[in-house]
Amino acid sequence: MPAMNRRFLLRARPSGDFDPKIMERVVEPAPVPGPGQALVRNRVLSLDPTNRIWMSEGESYLPPVPLNDVMRGVCYGEVVASNGSYRVGTRVVGLTGWQDYALVSATDAMPVTPLPGFLPIKPTDAMGVLGATGMTAYFGLLDIGKPKRGETVVVSAAAGAVGSIVGQIAKIYGCRAVGIAGTREKCDWLVRELGFDAAICRRDPDWKAQLVKACPNGIDVDFENAGGEIMDAVMDLMNLNGRIVLCGMISQYGKDDRSNLGPKEFINVLTRRLLIQGFIILDYIPRFPLAQARMLWWIKRGLIKESHTLVRGLDNAPAALAGLFRGDNTGKLLVEIDEPTA
Ligand code: NDP
Repeated sequence: MPAMNRRFLLRARPSGDFDPKIMERVVEPAPVPGPGQALVRNRVLSLDPTNRIWMSEGESYLPPVPLNDVMRGVCYGEVVASNGSYRVGTRVVGLTGWQDYALVSATDAMPVTPLPGFLPIKPTDAMGVLGATGMTAYFGLLDIGKPKRGETVVVSAAAGAVGSIVGQIAKIYGCRAVGIAGTREKCDWLVRELGFDAAICRRDPDWKAQLVKACPNGIDVDFENAGGEIMDAVMDLMNLNGRIVLCGMISQYGKDDRSNLGPKEFINVLTRRLLIQGFIILDYIPRFPLAQARMLWWIKRGLIKESHTLVRGLDNAPAALAGLFRGDNTGKLLVEIDEPTA
C-alpha cells in the first residue's frame, strides 16, 4: 500500500495578516516516480516571512503559488525512491513544498540541492545557518553593508533567523551590533548569549529614544528586515555615506495597499549620500560554497551560534506561520515533519 501524503493546498489569496484558514489539508497516496524522477520524503519544513509574499498575486521575484496547488516551501528531506535523477538515501534541500512526499527531477526549474555525504550537517543547520538563512545574513551584510571595524550596524527582527546571524557577523567584523526585537527576553538573549552590544524591544513605548541612546555615533549600516516605522526610525539616525541593506519588510507584507510602503524620510538617502540596495538571496546561490565554508569555520570557533524554534508536526505548520508574524519564534522557525496517521 502506498504511503499517505498530507498536503497543504492554498485555497484562497490572503488579505491582511496571514490566516491559516486559507490553507486546506488533504491526504492522498504518495506519488510514484516516473522516468527521470525521484521521490523525496520531507523531514523538516522551513517557515519564512516570504511565504506570505508567495501567496499573494502581483509581481514578485517568484510567481505566486497557484490557487489549489500545494503550498511552496523549502524542505530538508531524503530520497526514498528513484527512477533516475537522485540516488536513494541522498539528503536534499529544496522547494519540495508543504507535504510529506514530493516528486523531484534534476531537470526541474529549481532542482533540489543534494547535501554532501561526507559532511555531517544537521538538518536544522542545513535549513538555517548554513542554508539560505545564513547566506542571506552573510551576503546582505558583507556584500551590500560592507561593515568596517568600529562602525555601528543595526538589525531589525534581530532575534529571528537572519537577524540573529547578522549581529554575530557584525561582531566578527569588529562593529557595534545593535538589535531590534519584539520582547525583552529576546533582547536579553541577544546581548547575553549572542554578544550584541545592545538590543531594543520594539514594543517598549520609548523604543525610539532607546535606539538613539544605543547608537551614540549614529548608524553606518542598517540591515533592514522590518520596514515601516522601524525603518523610518533607523533611517533618521543614519550617518553620512551609510548603507541600507534592504533584506525584508515584514511589517508590510500583510498590507493589501502597496502604494505607501516606502520610508517616510526618503530624502535622507539624498542628503546623507546613503546607499540603499535590495537583494534576493537566490541570486547568490553560485557563491554559497565559500560562504558556507567560512560560516562552518566561525561555528567551529564559537563565533556564530545557531538557534532555531522547532514546531513538531506538519499539521501545525499553518498556525506556526501565523506565529512568525507575531514574533513567536526565536532563531530559525522550522517544522519537524512527523509520520502521517490520518
Ligand atoms: P524571522 O525569523 O526574523 O521571523 C520574523 C520576525 O520578524 C518575527 O520573529 C518578529 O520578531 C519580526 N516581526 C514580525 N512582524 C513584525 C512587524 N510587524 N514589525 C517588526 N518586526 C516584525 O524571519 P527571517 O529571518 O526568515 O526573515 C527576516 C526578514 O528577512 C524578513 O523580512 C524576510 O522577508 C527577509 N528575508 C529576505 C531574504 C532575501 O533574499 N532578501 C531571504 C530571507 C529572509 P520580533 O517580534 O522579535 O521583532
